[in-house]
Amino acid sequence: MGLRSRYPRGVTVKTPEQVQRMRAAGLVVAEALARMSEAVRPGITTGDLDLIARGVLERHGATSSFLGYGDPGFPAVICASVGPEVVHGIPGDRVLQEGELCSLDFGAIVDGWHGDAAVTVPVGQCDPAVLELNRITEESLWAALRTVRPGGALSDIGAAVEATVRPHGYGLLDDYTGHGIGTSMHEPPYVPNTAPKGPGRGMPLDVGIVLAVEPMATLGLAEVVTLADEWTVATADGLQASHWEHTVAVTPDGPWVLTAPDGGASRL
Ligand code: MG
Repeated sequence: MGLRSRYPRGVTVKTPEQVQRMRAAGLVVAEALARMSEAVRPGITTGDLDLIARGVLERHGATSSFLGYGDPGFPAVICASVGPEVVHGIPGDRVLQEGELCSLDFGAIVDGWHGDAAVTVPVGQCDPAVLELNRITEESLWAALRTVRPGGALSDIGAAVEATVRPHGYGLLDDYTGHGIGTSMHEPPYVPNTAPKGPGRGMPLDVGIVLAVEPMATLGLAEVVTLADEWTVATADGLQASHWEHTVAVTPDGPWVLTAPDGGASRL
């Protein structure tokens, strides 16, 4: 009998030097998301936001994690998912409207290492119920990130998301997950946003593990459909959704949020 691996096949453990290089990518991601968030307002197009992100990549000599990804190849450097769209929206001539939530997801490569994060930004004035969905989804991300420390286990993440989101009755997507990240944007393991068997299960969160954690919640049901463009995932009931993501490394001192400008210090 062979030894059972400590991790699922393909999981990589990064050295401190490698994590530092991922931090460089994470800071480019943070800057692009900040610039785009500032620009969100009624009347701007999602294509305008993609151009802002392209400018940030260019200034840093970085490249896109998303452009050309998958099949059909993703045609842009951001995912912009508006209103009932949850994730993987393709930016273009869509004009943002007052009251919509706009999820902006962005990945950058610096010296071969990826960073990946997402924010959801209200467009103008939004309904209080929509703002509360967005606030709780962001809080679920931070609750999850606080668990990413030595001694933890993979399912602590999904358990924290569920404990934050479920009491509000929101839909929680469990077919779409976070992921390992490193020299590829998507590495094993899958990082579920639910934990059917509770916390303390799955692979150990050892020092050097780096994950992209990305809860997605909806105002209504969790059921989603993929649109004709073969990318955009939207709620089946047409109600709005929120999506937040950070790339986080396990360090001896706990989580280091590589895509937060302050490393997560103010929220952890
Ligand atoms: Mg991701």
